[in-house]
Amino acid sequence: MIAEKLKEVKENIEGAKAKRSPDKQHEVRLIAVTKNHDVQAMREAIDAGVTDIGENRIQEAKEKFATLDRDVTWHLIGHLQTNKAKQAVKIFDLIHSVDTLHLAEAINNAAAGINKVQKVLVQVNLAKEDSKSGVYVEELADLLHKVDELPNLQLMGLMCIAPNYDDVEECRPLFAKMYEIFQKVKEITFSTANILYLSMGMTHDYEIAVEEGANMVRVGTGIFGPRQY
Ligand SMILES: *Cc1c(COP(=O)(O)O)cnc(C)c1O
Repeated sequence: MIAEKLKEVKENIEGAKAKRSPDKQHEVRLIAVTKNHDVQAMREAIDAGVTDIGENRIQEAKEKFATLDRDVTWHLIGHLQTNKAKQAVKIFDLIHSVDTLHLAEAINNAAAGINKVQKVLVQVNLAKEDSKSGVYVEELADLLHKVDELPNLQLMGLMCIAPNYDDVEECRPLFAKMYEIFQKVKEITFSTANILYLSMGMTHDYEIAVEEGANMVRVGTGIFGPRQY
């Protein structure tokens, strides 16, 4: 079941990649979002070829991290509270949700405490939704430079979550704009940052995100089915 759905998602990604303009020929990394699914489902997905998993809550991730007997790359895709930074750096290879200097500093300090350089993305709130985290684009460059200066962080790119439009096509201009911003950010001279990733697209909109230039997509429902809360 999971293996079949995973195959379908991968085929959809290939289909979307084929529709891209010639300037967008990069690989796309699929993050299987396992929040609210158990460790058995995670094993099944990993055994079917998943290499990257995404979680959004520290407590849940911590329990799964202790139980999961598989080698996999861990992504924190949800909002992080500064008081959980210490636990987050122990688990996650890439934290997608840095959106304030305060949070960046907390992660930096936590990472320093375990002699780690924590890879992070900065989350952008492009549509300026009150309900969502993320830095506004006007403040993005400033935050990126400050994150770049923190010795125990390595900035790897940008992340965004599109609004939940009735018509998913409405996401397209937003994703296109994010890609444009991503290209501009790549041209900035940083000291340690290595701008490689543009994380955007979830189950309902990942194909559009890929068509517009995402190189990391975060798919949960499309692989595991609906979540039971
Ligand atoms: C839950 C979540 C996803 C995956 O959502 P699906 O619609 O199940 O694919 C992706 N990104 C973030 C930030 C999430 O919280």
